Amino acid sequence: MPGRVVRFLLVCAASLGVCTPSLWAQRTQLKAPWNMYSPQTDVQLGKQNADVMEKRLPLCNDPRVDAYLTKLGLRLVSKLPTRGVQYPWEFHCINDKSINAFALPGGYVFINRGAIEVADNEAQLAAVMAHELSHVALRHGTAQASKAQLAQGAAGIFGGLFGGSTGGDLLTEGVALGAGGLLLRYSRGAETQADVMGTQVLYDTGYDPRAMSQFFENLEAETKGKNPPQFLSDHPNPDHRVERVDEEIDKLRGPAANAKRDSAEFEAIKREVLALPVVKKIAPLSAPSGGGTPPPPPSSHFSEYQGNSFTVKYPDNWGESEGDGGASFAPTGGVVQGSNGDGALAYGMIVSVNSAQVDSNDTDALAKATQQLIRALQKSNPNLRVTQQSAPVKLNGQPGFSTYLSNDSPAGGQETDWLITVMHANGVLSFLCVAPQTAYSDYDKTFSAILDTVRLSK
Ligand SMILES: [Zn+2]
Repeated sequence: MPGRVVRFLLVCAASLGVCTPSLWAQRTQLKAPWNMYSPQTDVQLGKQNADVMEKRLPLCNDPRVDAYLTKLGLRLVSKLPTRGVQYPWEFHCINDKSINAFALPGGYVFINRGAIEVADNEAQLAAVMAHELSHVALRHGTAQASKAQLAQGAAGIFGGLFGGSTGGDLLTEGVALGAGGLLLRYSRGAETQADVMGTQVLYDTGYDPRAMSQFFENLEAETKGKNPPQFLSDHPNPDHRVERVDEEIDKLRGPAANAKRDSAEFEAIKREVLALPVVKKIAPLSAPSGGGTPPPPPSSHFSEYQGNSFTVKYPDNWGESEGDGGASFAPTGGVVQGSNGDGALAYGMIVSVNSAQVDSNDTDALAKATQQLIRALQKSNPNLRVTQQSAPVKLNGQPGFSTYLSNDSPAGGQETDWLITVMHANGVLSFLCVAPQTAYSDYDKTFSAILDTVRLSK
């Protein structure tokens, strides 16, 4: 193949006498991996997860730093091949000293202060950012989700977010948090693509592309004698990473003579970042694989969630994700990777609005709707069993039913599911509290406290 290109170029040179230098550059042509989602889904998913991240991650909250990152980011975006898709680019600085950066689908880019602090110059920071932007342009997050969805079959990893509101989707509705993990779990192949495209973007923006390999060399130096930088767990090292980047630089015919390396502005921003107060580190959002570390105990301080049909308060160290008129609330590590690679809620609460085939004048309407919901849940969870029959309770002063169930826990072993149902204009509103059986007693009080805060809209 390279032979053919060279022959073509020689013919071109001989017959025309002129060939623009760019024709000689045999840069690697990158093809985005197979993806079953539309770019609009990238934006929608990215936005949903970015909202959660912005609430959970300690942001630098320094307008000068954010403005600088945005300016640098957009300069790189101007040379990023997005195949005509316009993404809503956002750049955030996270007050976290660990060296990391990540980009959600749709262009929501988060850069740890640690990545700014370890960069020797502007070109190296631009290199990390160009790598992240390439993941967005090549749509690696949803490509990864597409593969997982194919493996999982029709149920749909994002079923709860984009599918119908049938009870069957109820247990997978907490996927936004899990999807956050999935969307950022890149393969080594995706890493190489992001390195190569990032190098091209650096070059095209006028930066010294060698900054890409220098940044990775810095990472390797950081790795010695310590825990590997977090960047490498989100962006696993492909083989010969530095060599592959250098190869691309050769294909680009080396750095331009006047290639940009640093700026006074970068040095000023780096000093500003170094002087930011250090905040307590929050555990990363990505879900551990099945049977991982249990989540930290629920906080006794509560955040408020306002949905269309209800409001609720939940522990402020939990995350929330919205979908289909409902929402789910889970601690870090509460959404674990199921056997098929899908995100499944092991700890937390799922609130759903479910349509019910009942006559609202029927005095047994709630009992019947609850039974319908349980049967629908059993369709997608064959081992789901009622362990304590439905009993009347009050939720925000309204008549409801309390039912206890057991099911296989995605964290291993059995889980306890406490289901509270109340009639609602659009059907039946359900609150499903989930924890592994062995840990349930630690969550019982928290679930009750959460349910006490529920306010149903009229
Ligand atoms: Zn990466």
